[in-house]
Amino acid sequence: MAYDFDLFVIGAGSGGVRAARFAAGYGARVAVAESRYLGGTCVNVGCVPKKLLVYGAHFSEDFELAKGFGWSLPRADFDWPTLIGNKDREIQRLNGIYRNLLVNSGVTLLESHAKLIDANHVEVDGKRYSAQHILLATGGWPQIPDIPGQEHAISSNEAFFLKQLPKRVLVVGGGYIAVEFASIFHGVGAQTTLLYRGELFLRGFDGGVRTHLREELERKGLELQFNADIARIDKQADGSLRATLKDGRELEADCVFYATGRRPMLDNLGLENVDVALDKRGFIQVDEQFQTSEPSILAIGDVIGRVQLTPVALAEGMAVARRLFKPEEYRPVDYAHIPTAVFSLPNIGTVGLTEEQAREAGHELKIFESRFRALKLTLTESQERTFMKLVVDAKSDRVLGCHMVGPDAGEIIQGLAVALKAGATKQVFDETLGVHPSMAEEFVTMRAPVSA
Ligand code: FAD
Ligand code: NDP
Repeated sequence: MAYDFDLFVIGAGSGGVRAARFAAGYGARVAVAESRYLGGTCVNVGCVPKKLLVYGAHFSEDFELAKGFGWSLPRADFDWPTLIGNKDREIQRLNGIYRNLLVNSGVTLLESHAKLIDANHVEVDGKRYSAQHILLATGGWPQIPDIPGQEHAISSNEAFFLKQLPKRVLVVGGGYIAVEFASIFHGVGAQTTLLYRGELFLRGFDGGVRTHLREELERKGLELQFNADIARIDKQADGSLRATLKDGRELEADCVFYATGRRPMLDNLGLENVDVALDKRGFIQVDEQFQTSEPSILAIGDVIGRVQLTPVALAEGMAVARRLFKPEEYRPVDYAHIPTAVFSLPNIGTVGLTEEQAREAGHELKIFESRFRALKLTLTESQERTFMKLVVDAKSDRVLGCHMVGPDAGEIIQGLAVALKAGATKQVFDETLGVHPSMAEEFVTMRAPVSA
């Protein structure tokens, strides 16, 4: 049977664009449908605008540090609409780049919602297209718990477009987005409180990292409330919000921001017309080659709920393009040693096993840790400390995990990810010369284990 396309991709986000471009480059006839914004979450309401806001927020600290180096500045004023306007212009430019990338690779771009009709047909704007393979790369969507007054809360989707900076912000959640946005709001001058339902935020990160970040955020004046959760939100006569906590306490705010995880985006996708199974959490279930239970349909990225990170979606998109159209170059995605950063202020950078995971896996460990005040801060009043940690297997000497909290941790951890992927031992770290004077050199100069 002759199909209109060899591959029909639904969703032009990180994973979908990567799969479409490479498949077209391998000679396949490819279409992509995108209902909202080219580049998906990462470019429009994720990684990129988030990082721009983090840069913006860090200036408040930079102005303070500058004093120690002889700079005297007039009182710095911050204008949120300027930051958001400039960010919007940059994102619009990136949307154009994504459009050109797709069109120039020979991909047919349909800028509208796509719905599955059957295992080989998709409908866009009332028109049906047939395809030999269909790739679901529809991403995720913020999920806000169903509490009374939920409609008064915002998610990251709205936070990027707030017209004015709220004076008082309550951030709910203890994951990546909550910690990053709490740092953004605090950095640009909003009175910020982070509420997390558990004992300590960033579950799944190394214990040392979690406690160190807690101390540093509190030192900066960001209010952290653990074992705290909101039961209801009420709008008051003056337009402000009152959040009533489960323990009965009441907090007032101008904005309640929820960052409580993301669900798969399956809305009006037509899943009822095909045999695509979901896993227990509701994400699309795939095998190791991203095949769903419907033989002609594949899925990648956030919608499969494995690891919700852009580089992972990119790798999965690449793997699908190769498997279908360049099988001789196909390699499975390796989920070990995925480096990641939380762009809080200060950053977290991490790769490999946490101490807790390594112990649970039965490793006998040597733990190396360092806490220090960065050289840059010695001329300033900042008491911020940087934290570094190596988790080493005592028997093989292999470095199992590297963890850092401090400026530029997100940059520093990338190089260490290469070392871990290559199977570096602690001896290799010890024999590697440092870059002096730098913070990163501490990773190759930690000699005495704090525990063994
Ligand atoms: P997406 O990028 O979400 O793309 C899916 C696309 O499909 C969307 O454009 C959507 O409009 C479209 N779509 C959905 N349904 C349909 C349909 N039926 N028809 C047509 N189109 C449809 N990751 C990092 O690695 N680093 C970071 O710093 C980082 N920061 C983040 C910050 C925030 C606030 C958020 C929310 C996420 C962040 N992430 C980060 C995660 C990252 O954005 C995602 O992992 C990544 O975008 C997933 O890519 P994807 O292709 O699976 O989906
Ligand atoms: P996360 O899964 O990281 O965190 C969700 C947080 O919300 C957890 O602390 C969780 O608590 C809490 N939570 C979940 N449900 C509820 C509830 N009903 N009531 C109260 N609290 C709740 O999700 P995010 O939304 O922060 O981010 C989504 C994903 O996007 C991340 O996992 C990450 O993969 C990606 N991302 C990556 C970034 C980066 O690379 N820098 C930045 C931003 C996002 P508990 O731990 O107790 O379950």
